Amino acid sequence: GIFSSSTNPSLFGRRFSSATAQESNLIRATLFPGDGIGPEIADSVKKVFNVADVPIEWEEHFVGTEVDPRTQSFLTWESLESVRRNKVGLKGPMATPIGKGHRSLNLTLRKELNLYANVRPCYSLPGYKTKYDDVDLITIRENTEGEYSGLEHQVVRGVVESLKIITRQASLRVAEYAFHYAKTHGRERVSAIHKANIMQKTDGLFLKCCREVAEKYPEITYEEVVIDNCCMMLVKNPSLFDVLVMPNLYGDIISDLCAGLIGGLGLTPSCNIGEGGIALAEAVHGSAPDIAGKNLANPTALLLSAVTMLRHLDLHDKADKIQDAVLKTIAEGKYRTGDLGGNSTTTDFTKAICDHL
Ligand code: NAD
Repeated sequence: GIFSSSTNPSLFGRRFSSATAQESNLIRATLFPGDGIGPEIADSVKKVFNVADVPIEWEEHFVGTEVDPRTQSFLTWESLESVRRNKVGLKGPMATPIGKGHRSLNLTLRKELNLYANVRPCYSLPGYKTKYDDVDLITIRENTEGEYSGLEHQVVRGVVESLKIITRQASLRVAEYAFHYAKTHGRERVSAIHKANIMQKTDGLFLKCCREVAEKYPEITYEEVVIDNCCMMLVKNPSLFDVLVMPNLYGDIISDLCAGLIGGLGLTPSCNIGEGGIALAEAVHGSAPDIAGKNLANPTALLLSAVTMLRHLDLHDKADKIQDAVLKTIAEGKYRTGDLGGNSTTTDFTKAICDHL
């Protein structure tokens, strides 16, 4: 049917993984409900997984109440160990208190677990009309360095410096991931997004690495697009792109732009891929403090992120079932959350999804 992932091979792909899971055994996965709307949408995932009879046992971890010296952030060492042990997990959004003098929770996770690639699929949802009906993009964001290296300081009064780090190793690794993803998911084109005309050394090295990897994949068309032009082209005609690979900050920004093309941040999932086969799925959006605790959040992005986790575990039947139920509920239009123009609560929308399972 139109909701089946086989009609859209980009929906997190079938060959995503290295998994060995058996449907008969319970698989342990780490769950960080996170902050703001996190616990509400994590509840929704737990309910849907229960009704769909997904063989997952959640190991829930919460953000600590004081800074753990081993992580230099409110994220506890035990919670990191849980992901390292289970190798799969789902994380809700984590708020970053501004200027509190400790490491951002998200940055800590990415750095400590070496989550080097963040895969952000974005596609038009059947039955949910926006200006575009043919969006089908995969943004692959370098996740460990670039402008997010956390190296900022004051040089003298009134002058601050922030370092953008680009390494050959991290650039080759994310480029390799992007080309391999394209090849194994029936994609034809990889676009490297950059600003190498200005950031000659950093983005220049990033591009050099992408070119090197591109040579190993002659079947994939490779192109380079300057980021400002990329924004204009995406808004004008998103079907010009297929897989996009880029340094950290650009990926953060472009993926929100892509979310806007299909109906907003309530819809777009992602999966962080780490060394040693770790997959930590999370929504693209943040903790949405403006609607937190009000039963208004759209759980779709986290649910579709959880689907990427199931695909990573090769639990494709369960993944298809949940994805179909989510997309059908949205397409029917009777139950939609406020961000999609409806007036359903998170709870009612979740119940409607469960009724479609
Ligand atoms: P945000 O994504 O939390 O919210 C932006 C807008 O989108 C808000 O109007 C919000 O209501 C709406 N929105 C987001 N998710 C939604 C959902 N599921 N359903 C309905 N509406 C939704 O971005 P922000 O306000 O810039 O950031 C808030 C906090 O989240 C900050 O502390 C930031 O650091 C953090 N953040 C965390 C992550 C993460 O954990 N990966 C990502 C981005 C931002």
